Amino acid sequence: MKKHCLSIGLGVSLLAAGQTYSQNAVNVPAAGSQLTQVRKVTINDPFWSPKMELWRTTTATDVLDKFEGKHLKAEEQAKNNVFENFDKVAAGKKGGHAGLPWFDGLIYETIRGIGDLHPDAALQARIDGYIDRIYAAQQADPNGYINTYTDLMEPTHRWGDNGGFLRWQHDVYNAGMLVEAGVHYYKATGKTKLLEVAVRAANHMTALMGPAPKRNIVPAHSGPEEAVTKLYWLFKENPDLKTKLNVPVNEQAYLALARFWIENRGHNAGYPLWLTWGNDQSEKWVKEQKYKEISADARPAWGDYAQDSIPVFQQKTIEGHAVRATLLATGITAMALESHMPEYMQTAGRLWDNMAGRRMFVTGGVGAIAHDEKFGADYFLPSNAYLETCAAVGAGFFSQRMNELTGDAKYMDEFERVLYNNVLTGVSLSGKQYTYQNPLNAHDHTRWEWHSCPCCPPMFLKMVSALPDYIYASAADRLYVNMFIGSNAEIGLADNKVAVSQETGYPWNGKVVLNINPEKTGAFSVHVRVPGWARGIENPYGLYASDLKQPVAFKINGKAQKVTLENGYAVIRREWKKGDRVELDLPVRPRVITANDQVKDLKNQVAIAAGPVIYCLETADNADLDALQVDTKSPLALQYRNDLLNGVNVVTGKSKNASGKVTSFTAVPYYAMGNRGGKGNKVWLPVNPATR
Ligand SMILES: [Zn+2]
Repeated sequence: MKKHCLSIGLGVSLLAAGQTYSQNAVNVPAAGSQLTQVRKVTINDPFWSPKMELWRTTTATDVLDKFEGKHLKAEEQAKNNVFENFDKVAAGKKGGHAGLPWFDGLIYETIRGIGDLHPDAALQARIDGYIDRIYAAQQADPNGYINTYTDLMEPTHRWGDNGGFLRWQHDVYNAGMLVEAGVHYYKATGKTKLLEVAVRAANHMTALMGPAPKRNIVPAHSGPEEAVTKLYWLFKENPDLKTKLNVPVNEQAYLALARFWIENRGHNAGYPLWLTWGNDQSEKWVKEQKYKEISADARPAWGDYAQDSIPVFQQKTIEGHAVRATLLATGITAMALESHMPEYMQTAGRLWDNMAGRRMFVTGGVGAIAHDEKFGADYFLPSNAYLETCAAVGAGFFSQRMNELTGDAKYMDEFERVLYNNVLTGVSLSGKQYTYQNPLNAHDHTRWEWHSCPCCPPMFLKMVSALPDYIYASAADRLYVNMFIGSNAEIGLADNKVAVSQETGYPWNGKVVLNINPEKTGAFSVHVRVPGWARGIENPYGLYASDLKQPVAFKINGKAQKVTLENGYAVIRREWKKGDRVELDLPVRPRVITANDQVKDLKNQVAIAAGPVIYCLETADNADLDALQVDTKSPLALQYRNDLLNGVNVVTGKSKNASGKVTSFTAVPYYAMGNRGGKGNKVWLPVNPATR
């Protein structure tokens, strides 16, 4: 494992201004096409509910225990209890920081994730205890500055000043994750203590950073852009909340800070030259503050690695460190949602099109290259690619926001792909083992108990805890069903309130029942996403293709109903009354996926999917994995196996190897890989030449 979360690295200048990009940018959404998330949704689902319970209890506790060092020998624990960093700062100590500089951020992300999973009273009390310690640490500084690494190890280098190195120290990133945690924990619990810490930190940053005469400081790791936008939204939606806090609130200043951070990327000294100088020399140049020789208010360039080589609105392709890139794109999309400024809409659309159309793996993963954990070139999609769990989460957040912005279902298609196939892979069925990289084909890939850079479990918790918010959406008199997850929701429409309950066997079968119960009988439309995979559109830009195409049948109150498709949604507009029932049956059956011819690494190979789930072959089921060649003329069969991997569908088929030997193979969902000790897994499978 390379130390890649180390968030420093060679920036490669791929973002040439003026590059042409042939795909059309997103259509600027018409007024009213924007969606609103439906919150306070309860999940009640045979696939998701047991997992949610596991993560809320076992995984949440395991992550906190490991951040306390409890998995280590007694003598090692004290040095590795990350929470003690806050106690040391509160006590005015110096030195002895446990973990890497961005561990404060990981703690805040964990608090956000666990809070949103609604833990029991004991676990909530444990979180509140941590919040007391974070609060005390911030109280040590009169301005509200808080970053335990910088305070303990490099106290004269706050924000990278005086020869510090912001890209390594993560001052802004950590503060951003604090802000996000404060907002989420307040919304989940109604408690304001962490929110006050967050507002104090945000106030400090708004006073310090911005257009001249303020300081030119931008996050060297994205995430804070969306976080302060969420802080703005919280007070915009709840103006009375301001009076309940013991700190002043200026929500407009938070929005302005987010804009500054986004728009000031690429506005730097133009140095150091990460590409030609290498990391060491570039870091040295920054630490010696040579950029001050260029101009008094200059800041160093954080490179393509941190999306800082050219201004954001000039970026044609999604580049650099994949977690940073997807989180920046999420922040840009959030700002587009708020502002409707065309530059934001077009930039978000362009980056998404490039990501989904040319740089996304069949599991939805992104970030092909291990070195710098970055995006590769267009169509560089090798089966042994890096694909960090955190980058999958970032891609998912980006796609979900794009759906909110545009009302187009294709973004939820790709959200669903990455959720089931790369995010879900991040935690084992035991709830206590994790993945960092998620290569599609590997000989030696195993899950780990804990990592020197445990960034992925907190990001995983952030995504799965937000899932209830992503099932439904609304706009005016339109109700949207985005995800097929058993659930109950109350959805406010223009002049009506609608209780919706959903029952489904998804992803193992395609049966979905929606019970629609409006408060009063009335006309409105229900928009049900019909996934691209169910309509022969494996990818919106033809990056992948499949052999499945069949109409999806809808019934209303037991009678077949014709539906029209708009933006990927089946639209049912009618007069709805209590007790109405919509049924659909999505074609969850095995299908064979091929990659676009432009993808050189995947020629003559196929992947297998059924419904939203991508399958893989493991050595645990297929002893001769290396010799297998799929006989694509032989049919594939799908079967639910209760006894395997906590209950999964398996796909079986025939292989004919090079010597003509015929065997059968068994494929399991990729998300369940690595739970049975075996090390080899393959998503992309060679095809026997005689059966092509
Ligand atoms: Zn990670």
